[in-house]
Amino acid sequence: MPSRIRREVRAKDIPGQKEMKQVFHQMVAEERLPHAMLIHSNEGGTGLALALHLSQLLFCEQPEAGEPCEICSGCTRTMSHTHPDIHHVFPVNGNKRVKKKEDRHSDSFLPEWREAIKANPFLELIDWYQAIEIENKQGFIGEEESASMRRKLALRSFEGGYRVFIIWHADKMNDSFANKMLKNLEEPTAKTVFLLVSENPAKLLPTIISRVQIFREDHVDEQELADFLVKHKGLDPQVAMNIAFRSEAHVSHALKEIDRDEDPWLTEFKMWMRLAYSRDISGLYKWSERMARKSRDAQRQYCKSALKVLDRCYRMGWLEMNVPMEGEEAKFYKDFSPFINTANVGGFLELLEEVSFHIERNVNEKIVWFDASISAVRYVHAGKKLMAEKD
Ligand SMILES: [Zn+2]
Repeated sequence: MPSRIRREVRAKDIPGQKEMKQVFHQMVAEERLPHAMLIHSNEGGTGLALALHLSQLLFCEQPEAGEPCEICSGCTRTMSHTHPDIHHVFPVNGNKRVKKKEDRHSDSFLPEWREAIKANPFLELIDWYQAIEIENKQGFIGEEESASMRRKLALRSFEGGYRVFIIWHADKMNDSFANKMLKNLEEPTAKTVFLLVSENPAKLLPTIISRVQIFREDHVDEQELADFLVKHKGLDPQVAMNIAFRSEAHVSHALKEIDRDEDPWLTEFKMWMRLAYSRDISGLYKWSERMARKSRDAQRQYCKSALKVLDRCYRMGWLEMNVPMEGEEAKFYKDFSPFINTANVGGFLELLEEVSFHIERNVNEKIVWFDASISAVRYVHAGKKLMAEKD
């Protein structure tokens, strides 16, 4: 994978979110931080980066104009993610190294976590699962995490000041953790801040939601993201704008695109369409088996990516809309987009929504994908037929 420029992305360098940063700054300056907060992050957005930024502000000894100084001991320890009063909680599962059930909590994965968020504070859940090699399983925040948190809460903060628990992808907490968490929220301890980050707060218990103050991440606009890519990744402004446009201002996707020749989901999608076009049933069966081996999160992500590709094809081909693009990817869109038209776009969109729905509900994935593949054959050929008629 060719890597153009790899500059560290610092938490204070967050695209957009000016208002929220201002609110955070004010709350810290006036010492009226709620003890339970939830950052409702966009998908692949800046929620974690905002949580890290807020923690750094809280521990910075001499913030300037709403920005942490980056040189005091509070800042340096926050930036290296080794501050003893900042606790990180995130979804985990057993892997090759961590096997025992009682070790399945965040502290067992701290070295990997520090490395991952230092490299990219905009990482997605799927990147994290990859980093700890649990791609085929679901991560969770469970009983072992409760026990670990209880031990920490029983102690005072190391430095006598605040202590912060950042709970990333808080919606991955199971009921056991959620019930313990609820107690912590009901009986707040002085100077203890719970900072929940979630892309999916609807999955949290309503009793938890009712006890946290919610901060909704703003939509990052394409210009803000492009500016960010120019400033922090050294991209040419036109290239940055193209990437911001294609990623639909999805921060994490944009960053990934810089380091990759192509979106891996697009490669997967192309293969699916090629097999469907050539009515290669045994190929589609193998493809379905391979998809079914990926984690449920990865499969759902594939559905989302495929939906975007289809939507873009429809807009480009049938509506003859121009999308800024260059290289191999442009060629694919140019060749394939005429196949996606009124004969199949609705069916395709429904199909992928349905697949995503079934996967979420633990239906046998291999069957779901194979069924979907058979429908895909029908849809691709319906599109081809209409295309021929149009010509
Ligand atoms: Zn500082």
